[in-house]
Amino acid sequence: MESFTYLDHAATTPMRASAIEAMTPYLSQCFANPSGSHRFARQARQALDEARDLVADLCGVRPGEVIFTSCGTESDTTVLMGAAAQVLPGSLVCSAAEHHAVLDPIQHHGGCVVGVDGTGQIDLDALSATLEQLTSPVSVVSVMAVNNEVGRVTDLARVAEVVRRKAPGALLHSDAVQAACWQDLREITASVDSISLSAHKFGGPKGVGILTLREGFTLRPLLRGGGQERDRRSGTHNLAGIVATAEALRATVAERDHEISRVRALRDRLLNGVRHQITGLCTTVDPALSVPGILHLCVEGVESESLLFLLDQAGVCASAASACASGAMEPSHVLAAMGVEPERARGALRLSLGHTSTEADIDRAVTVLTESVARLRQKRVRT
Ligand code: PLP
Repeated sequence: MESFTYLDHAATTPMRASAIEAMTPYLSQCFANPSGSHRFARQARQALDEARDLVADLCGVRPGEVIFTSCGTESDTTVLMGAAAQVLPGSLVCSAAEHHAVLDPIQHHGGCVVGVDGTGQIDLDALSATLEQLTSPVSVVSVMAVNNEVGRVTDLARVAEVVRRKAPGALLHSDAVQAACWQDLREITASVDSISLSAHKFGGPKGVGILTLREGFTLRPLLRGGGQERDRRSGTHNLAGIVATAEALRATVAERDHEISRVRALRDRLLNGVRHQITGLCTTVDPALSVPGILHLCVEGVESESLLFLLDQAGVCASAASACASGAMEPSHVLAAMGVEPERARGALRLSLGHTSTEADIDRAVTVLTESVARLRQKRVRT
């Protein structure tokens, strides 16, 4: 394979070798359906139970509070729609910087969207006022743990304090999809009632999501059928994927402290490098407020799309964090909510690091980014 520099870990991560190794037997000899009753099915069930126990422990919840789904989007939708089905529309609340997996279902059901401050964190006074003013009961408040575009970490304990005071019966959900590599999930689940995770964001396979839901909350399932996951999510288990997910999460948590300092040093090297070489470049959020793995920049005088094209040609994979499924650029709702002027947002660039990132990646990215920005600016002067 040609050499490349992968700085798009927030979009997806390469699978961990240990996760691939863990799942392999379940793709071949241990193929049975864990819902069956014969000996091979019982073996499969045991593997499923062990994976669930491990995930529960790593998330600080009980095994019965873990629901395996197909992705982060399904986990978010399950909790938002499952709880919304029980209370009137208009009783869902989220922040304006949520991923579309949360924002779209909430907006679709006429929920309330609360503004964020200039760093991307939900405005707690506005949240408090919104909860106070709502006339219908609030079913779910959803506030992400880490923003996927700018990396901003939310102070969920403070969010929980407001929600418990102003909407005591509400379910407090957190989309923690971008948090698994950098945050203590046990601390998060101590503050909120449910979280979503997605295996492919922490070295697991695509096609597995996790939803934790505190005991006592009931859900109307999105998928009905065989009654798997205690009737909360029907469908034959993706056993190989679930086993790999548990292993990926185990390795992620085991290495987390070390990775936080290693990746932070790489992120700082990257930032210092580009700051030195490129004028008219600024960080969108103070890196101290963001996870180490996400560096969001706005580069003056260049268009994200053209910059990403040149980076890609030179073998550097990055993102503007605003690509839709078709790959076309859309204006970022996160940057707009943060009050970033459209002119500045046009030069948005997200460089995201993870468990495979190295110093060589960073040095190469600095060189390529510097050359690409210079080329685009020269071209602009000529035209
Ligand atoms: N929530 C956040 C914060 C994300 O970053 C993503 C994926 O980018 C999702 C939800 C959706 O996860 P999935 O791709 O597993 O559906």
